[in-house]
Amino acid sequence: MPGSYKIAVLPGDGIGPEVIEAATKVLEAAQEAIKGLEINLIFGEAGYNCIKKYGTNLPKETIEILRETHACLKGPMTTPEDPKAPPSAAVTIRKMFGLYANVRPCRSLPRVESVKPNVDLIIVRENTEGLYSGKEFEVSPGKGIAIRIVTRNASERVAQLAFKLAAERKRHLTCVHKRNILRITDGIFRDSIFKIAKDYPSVYVDEVHVDAMAMRLVKEPEKFDVIVTTNMFGDILSDEAAQITGGLGLAAGANIGDNYAMFEPVHGSAPKYAGKNKVNPIATILASKMMMNYLNEKEAAELIEKAVIEVLKEGKVRTYDLGGNSTTQELGEEIASKILELSS
Ligand code: NAD
Repeated sequence: MPGSYKIAVLPGDGIGPEVIEAATKVLEAAQEAIKGLEINLIFGEAGYNCIKKYGTNLPKETIEILRETHACLKGPMTTPEDPKAPPSAAVTIRKMFGLYANVRPCRSLPRVESVKPNVDLIIVRENTEGLYSGKEFEVSPGKGIAIRIVTRNASERVAQLAFKLAAERKRHLTCVHKRNILRITDGIFRDSIFKIAKDYPSVYVDEVHVDAMAMRLVKEPEKFDVIVTTNMFGDILSDEAAQITGGLGLAAGANIGDNYAMFEPVHGSAPKYAGKNKVNPIATILASKMMMNYLNEKEAAELIEKAVIEVLKEGKVRTYDLGGNSTTQELGEEIASKILELSS
């Protein structure tokens, strides 16, 4: 039986509110299509737009909303680069709720121009430490230090999730690191992955240095299944992988913890397109699909994915990045209508 859920929705900055609006139309269509499914959206404020009003990009009212919901759908947020600005709201939420794995699938989609065909891979990125631990100091004028934290606990925890995914897929896991240079930190990460590998004898494990991986993602992305890596390497490689299969407008991500999860497009707030109703909402729509999967609402997840694929196959409604001139809302509405059509 489908369940009833409270979902925190944070529209964010720039193009965030537009892509979130399109994704909520899709969730409403899924709710209409599946008898018994209840999705209660609870909107909260977060991001750059909050700083003037609240003095923070993550007001306590929003943290309360996150605490009382089953999951969060988050739009992109602008992160100022001034060292005195508050840290990224996404990074704060990931730490606060222990969202230790960032899962970013990347696959070829119909009628989408891509660098290589037949790609179906997932990048699993450690989400709480590495160079994103926020420990950065200017020790003297012109001399800065950033601390790269890697622990066995966090590495084994993300390894468990990555192996579980690989075991359900093509049973191939690639550990990406730079142990030849970062011998201690990436030594801990690499050894943790190979330790957990012993619990998953059905999964073939290999390892690639991050620079070689950047090259192989362009040369032969179809050869990979699940890639597991540290925080910053995963952030960079997942944007690269997204471009290989058609661009940031299509790439979704999940931030998974033991008790909570947050779903978002991989892209940022793209300020130059804000308010233009022009960008592709599919990344955020596929993030909602991942959220339905996490909630174990497989039927809703499959329906959303099928609708996206059908609409792409038909090719009638396409945003600028897909070679068309449809608006963000037109594409969202087309996918929502397709959900109702497929379920009738
Ligand atoms: P960006 O992802 O916002 O945009 C880069 C380019 O990608 C855009 O100019 C556009 O050409 C394309 N693009 C992005 N989203 C698209 C979509 N939905 N459809 C079509 N094309 C799309 O990256 P940026 O310009 O480096 O960052 C802008 C701001 O976003 C920064 O403040 C950055 O810190 C922030 N950011 C936030 C997140 C997040 O909230 N998770 C992630 C990345 C960047």
